[in-house]
Amino acid sequence: MQIPAKSSSPIWHPFTQHALLPKMTAVASAQNAYLYTIDGRRLIDGIASWWVITHGHCHARIVRAISEQAQRLDQVIFAGHTHEPAERLARKLVELTPKGLDYVFFSDSGSTSVEVALKMALGYWRHIGEARQRIVALEHGYHGDTIGTMSVGARGVFNAPYEPLLFEVDRVPFPHVGREQATLDALDAACGRSAVAAFIVEPLILGAGGMLMYAPRVLKEMKLICERHRVLFIADEVMTAWGRTGTLFASEQAKVVPDIACYAKGITGGTLPLAVTMCRAEIFDAHYSTDRRRTFFHSSSYTANPIACAAANANLELWEEEPVLERIARIGTYHERRLLGLREDARFANVRRTGTIAAVDIRVPDNGYLADIGPRLYEFFGERGVLLRPLGNTIYILPPYCVTTEDLDAIYDAIGDAVDVVGV
Ligand SMILES: *Cc1c(COP(=O)(O)O)cnc(C)c1O
Repeated sequence: MQIPAKSSSPIWHPFTQHALLPKMTAVASAQNAYLYTIDGRRLIDGIASWWVITHGHCHARIVRAISEQAQRLDQVIFAGHTHEPAERLARKLVELTPKGLDYVFFSDSGSTSVEVALKMALGYWRHIGEARQRIVALEHGYHGDTIGTMSVGARGVFNAPYEPLLFEVDRVPFPHVGREQATLDALDAACGRSAVAAFIVEPLILGAGGMLMYAPRVLKEMKLICERHRVLFIADEVMTAWGRTGTLFASEQAKVVPDIACYAKGITGGTLPLAVTMCRAEIFDAHYSTDRRRTFFHSSSYTANPIACAAANANLELWEEEPVLERIARIGTYHERRLLGLREDARFANVRRTGTIAAVDIRVPDNGYLADIGPRLYEFFGERGVLLRPLGNTIYILPPYCVTTEDLDAIYDAIGDAVDVVGV
């Protein structure tokens, strides 16, 4: 195949093969569940702009909070300094998250929140004088794209070139329906080996791994196994938090209190980059010392940026003042209605849903990420005015909570037509 001429833009886009996608969709503005392109087209944002938008684009209340905060205090070093937006946010987070997550460490992306979680876990064991460094992770997991987070995530085409730099982890099989006990047995065996510091897991649904879902009871069992072996339980709720799974946090559904939890994506409603890693007091206390060597040595320049914190505070106010959970429940109910049709349709398999996220697999002979069905579907959906970005042959819908039933109908109708048009 001939390589097309390069674009004139100097920008190198993420997860984008420029030789296969020479032209980017230029977006001029956004409102509610819609993106508006510079050439005047409207796209329904069916994936919440990569899983970050919760209430809707450019929500007036969050935009106002950003604008007001930007005029008051834009940024300040967070070592040795603090500010009201961060203090308020941290207290609110401690109140809202599962009881027992008493400390909040700020950073600015999901990946860094996971890096911080891993460093907290290793620091904890070192400072209490136990030699535990190994990490256990779930098969198909995704935790970010930095070297550390790639190490705990699934290996594959995405990280093959960097493999020599990735550290080794123990991996437990994904708990497919009917095979949950094998997962639990493997976790028990892995945690029973020496030197295990922590187990990291995406609660209830593995996102980038293909929207793979499992039951809350399995998550609960995993937590109990970790407790028996005194292995720290890290919940990567970067995608699952902020209502995505039907509750504010996915861990709630299993009545699990993680030892360490990572939250990012929807924490500002999707407007600004911000992340937090929250932990139990024991982990903070292990670092609390007059010995400077026990300092938690991590920071990023923009730690707890005041404008991002103000956006997060406005987001949490919306959660408190508006019936967001009801809105989410309605999306779930409507998904079920439309999924019924797909469940009876032989072209689709593994029709599934957790909260606001619905996913189906298209039956295809080759279902790897590199199979070109994903990009062809993406293009078809774009032409239909819908932004969906399939993961290989998995099509998923992860909408902002302001999505209407008309929008969802347009999305489902496009999915129904896509398979025939794209010609699997
Ligand atoms: C997106 C994601 C990350 C990485 O977050 P970034 O903000 O993209 O760095 C980590 N874990 C999970 C579960 C995610 O979905």
